[in-house]
Amino acid sequence: SRARSHMPQYPGLEQYQLLEKMGDGAFSVVYKAIDTHTQQYRAIKVVSKTRLTHTQRAAVLKEAAIMRQLDHENIVKMYAFLESDERYFIVLELVSGGELFHQIVRLTYFSEDLSRHVIVQVAHAVRHLHEVAGVVHRDIKPENLLYAPTDFVPSKKRVFRAGDDSSKEDEGEFIPGKGAGGIGVVKLADFGLSKIIWDNKTMTPCGTVGYTAPEIVKDERYSKSVDMWALGCVLYTVLCGFPPFYDESIEVLTHKVAKGQYTFLSPWWDDISTSAKDLVSKLLTVDPEKRLTIDEFLQHPWVTQDGTVPVVES
Ligand code: ADP
Ligand code: MG
Repeated sequence: SRARSHMPQYPGLEQYQLLEKMGDGAFSVVYKAIDTHTQQYRAIKVVSKTRLTHTQRAAVLKEAAIMRQLDHENIVKMYAFLESDERYFIVLELVSGGELFHQIVRLTYFSEDLSRHVIVQVAHAVRHLHEVAGVVHRDIKPENLLYAPTDFVPSKKRVFRAGDDSSKEDEGEFIPGKGAGGIGVVKLADFGLSKIIWDNKTMTPCGTVGYTAPEIVKDERYSKSVDMWALGCVLYTVLCGFPPFYDESIEVLTHKVAKGQYTFLSPWWDDISTSAKDLVSKLLTVDPEKRLTIDEFLQHPWVTQDGTVPVVES
């Protein structure tokens, strides 16, 4: 087609046919592509090496190394990492709905049920990162949350298996045109700022624990809590349609964040449940030690209230 003929063809990426541009970043362009060997659709993040410093190149390699270790339903999968003289190519699972950000703009805000449907999936990604992979994401925001479009409405029942990391949502219904805001599976993307905090094999902090200084140990603890703060910002935003902290002046904004100065602004928050507000406030807590952990989040009444009778299958 005409559009295809305008797509670049990069040396080193012969296996893939680029179809259309999906996203633009400071150092990267993301394309929808097809794997010509398997006919499977992919998203490919193309990073131009020429404008990158040594440190930035190392960061791209780290992004790929971290993604390679991750295998979870709510985390964008990396299929391959390719490299030519001039570029890096990160071959990713295509998440065809695009950014959650655009759904917020389209719908203005989400119902509490839709917000729960979305945020619980993000939380499952975060739990996998924090407790299984030993990774902190550090850039959770609606632009980095992608979704598969669907008319699937999540059911009231969620089945938990004992000793299983994943919960299974296997009962729901399809209501054409009246689906879960068009949002099906939600996936966390963009590991460009992510960091490994735990040794993957031993499940202990990296290095010799006994000799690690308190500020290092604390740093690792605090680093998980930055994702929980971000989760609180995302939850606030999907519930009301605007972010908890905003100011045109970066100085004023920084001050507001540092002090945790946000409000449940009337009239937008008037009809939102006290339980939802309680959860938001426990995430947007300035002291990282008092902020909810991912497990505490998943046990909060607003999260579990959806009729969830935790059915434990043995
Ligand atoms: P950056 O570091 O430039 O922010 P991202 O990894 O966030 O790079 O990708 C930029 C944008 O490209 C995303 O916000 C999203 O719109 C789109 N994108 C990235 N990965 C995918 C994917 N796997 N499927 C669909 N779109 C994607
Ligand atoms: Mg991004």
